[in-house]
Amino acid sequence: MSTEGRSFKKTAAAALICAVVVFLCLNRLLPDKKAEEARGDYFFLGTVVHISVYGQGKDFLSEELAGLEAEGKRLEKLFSANIPESDVRRASDGQGKWVEVSEETYALVKRAVDLSEDTDGAFDPALGRITKLWKIGSDGARVPEEEEIRAALRCCGCKDIELKEDDGAYFIKVTGGALIDLGGIAKGRVADIMVKKLADDGIKSALIDLGGNLAVTGERPGGGKWRLGIQTPERPRGEYFGTVSVSDCSVVTSGAYERYLEKDGVRWHHIFDPSTGRPTDSDFSSVTVIDRDSTKADALSTALFVMGRDGADGYLKEHKDIAAVFLLKGEKRVLVTEAARSVFTAADASLSVGDIGGAGK
Ligand code: AMP
Ligand code: MG
Repeated sequence: MSTEGRSFKKTAAAALICAVVVFLCLNRLLPDKKAEEARGDYFFLGTVVHISVYGQGKDFLSEELAGLEAEGKRLEKLFSANIPESDVRRASDGQGKWVEVSEETYALVKRAVDLSEDTDGAFDPALGRITKLWKIGSDGARVPEEEEIRAALRCCGCKDIELKEDDGAYFIKVTGGALIDLGGIAKGRVADIMVKKLADDGIKSALIDLGGNLAVTGERPGGGKWRLGIQTPERPRGEYFGTVSVSDCSVVTSGAYERYLEKDGVRWHHIFDPSTGRPTDSDFSSVTVIDRDSTKADALSTALFVMGRDGADGYLKEHKDIAAVFLLKGEKRVLVTEAARSVFTAADASLSVGDIGGAGK
């Protein structure tokens, strides 16, 4: 064969290899145009869970769902304060003793303690005595006596949680009668772990809804950002006052309308002010935090709800990167941080949109 013929063959082979590489890369990077959907509805972590995964092959997608469900239930057995053999319960029950726990529980409790410090105690993962006293959202919910609240409050706060790592093993020591409650952060952590699993398994597009704690991976099937609704409090599920457009992100909402006890015309909800031991008398109906890190978004939505408008404004001025949306109680008005401006759209034209955390200044 002539030199020209050989060089043509080489060039053609190189071009073919390049085309295959480009095709494989694009195939991995671009969302599937005609993705199939598999959806699972479950109940764990004390909440209704919906997961949708998109891709090719029903069997593969169903297997992925089964894996995510198993993972969610496994993590619930570590993090739940309502399961007697969970890591969290064993640590709390071990009062004054070092209790060995899984690395996952250790890491989450450590993160919760760090976020508690960061929010000046507005987020308190050691307020289990208070949540157990009120039992909001479960059988036996009641309004306790002031004396009971005062006694329970003495046993709250992260000073009562110690952590240590020893030769590859992980330990927690709880003292002073405190009880760990990760209800304000665990769903975020579970969402983060599920998102990691989806990425490891090559799923490019998925939506996880852990009772209103949303997380999406990649873009929506067919391409483009996901548009996630923020629930209008007191209205039927699926009625939204606004949407956020995101990809690879989580959107976590805390609100007084989620779980509550109504007694003598007063509503007692499930988010507590650690300084009073009572449901927070917040300026907000709901607080939504938008962040890739769902663990952080979960803890912060709870903490910002507790801080109220002035506290949240001060905190956000020091943390300009936080994207958050606040619905003011009793008003058709939302406040958004600078970082949330570009992702939030009000669904209702009569809703006024203001600034918080120094946004717009
Ligand atoms: P969330 O719905 O994420 O705001 O979390 C509410 C849950 O977190 C409650 O059901 C309690 O289990 C727990 N919780 C309530 N108040 C606080 C608080 N101030 N700090 C941390 N966890 C809390
Ligand atoms: Mg939370």
